[in-house]
Amino acid sequence: ATPTSIMVGTGRAAELGVLFRKGDALQTVEGSRVVAFDKTGTLTEGKPALVRSEAAPGVAPAEVLRLAASAEQGSEHPIARALETAAQGALSQPEDSEAIAGHGLSATVEGRALLVGAKRLMTREGIALGPLEATHDDIAAAGQTPVLVAVDGAIAGVFAVADRVKPGARAAVEALHAQGIKVAMITGDTRATAQAIAGELGIDHVEAEVLPEGKLAAVKALRERFGPVAFVGDGINDAPALAEAEVGIAIGTGTDVAIESADIVLVSGELAGVVEAFHVSGAVLRNIR
Ligand code: ADP
Ligand code: MG
Repeated sequence: ATPTSIMVGTGRAAELGVLFRKGDALQTVEGSRVVAFDKTGTLTEGKPALVRSEAAPGVAPAEVLRLAASAEQGSEHPIARALETAAQGALSQPEDSEAIAGHGLSATVEGRALLVGAKRLMTREGIALGPLEATHDDIAAAGQTPVLVAVDGAIAGVFAVADRVKPGARAAVEALHAQGIKVAMITGDTRATAQAIAGELGIDHVEAEVLPEGKLAAVKALRERFGPVAFVGDGINDAPALAEAEVGIAIGTGTDVAIESADIVLVSGELAGVVEAFHVSGAVLRNIR
């Protein structure tokens, strides 16, 4: 590309909040065959709220919520904030609390053993969901994230946390499809939840229940299947995938680690910026041919 076309291209993109951190990204974006999005905080706002609670028979839902929110006090996961906000009242300090990557957490609260997280956490610990299984599945089918709580080795409750899809998400997926580009989602969330949201957005390929260290492998698998990959993400655990992809696109409102690993930053986090990056890249390349 001529220096002039690159300057004009990056300048126009910057006005729209699309920052090219690395010069060659301007030329590689257009060659992407698939755009893979992280879900939480990238396709969605990343501020989930509690929308439903159900406790096991004979257990008070408010008490389960209080214990679960107490257990989550040391966690940085958005689910922790949703539970704390909903619990409102006084919480207990967890005696010990340990994050279990991609699964949830374990903690001791008021001398009781708490487990809070996804179904695979309960499966791993050999805890049956019993009468809460149907509610769990119902929550996931609605595109919400089920959060299970076990107290002293027995299932005690299930909560639904829901996160709003970003206003521009569907339009961005449509615009990419119109250019013949595949669109994928890569998430640690439950498969049914991920599929419901993907369906709502028209996303054709879903990699769900991906462990934090699995996002990089997911990018490689997409490359094998479709060709060069652009990956869009915001979290600490998105950094390896952002670096691995031909084009890493970070959400500007996300973590510093993600931004530092990316080629392009969407300053306001608006997904229209992904489409704009393709437009600018295409315009610059046509200019040199
Ligand atoms: P993601 O951010 O894509 O959801 P994570 O790897 O952070 O991916 O988590 C995967 C899943 O594990 C989450 O969707 C959630 O169901 C569960 N999980 C992880 N951390 C927590 C937590 N602190 N509290 C409750 N559930 C959690
Ligand atoms: Mg995220």
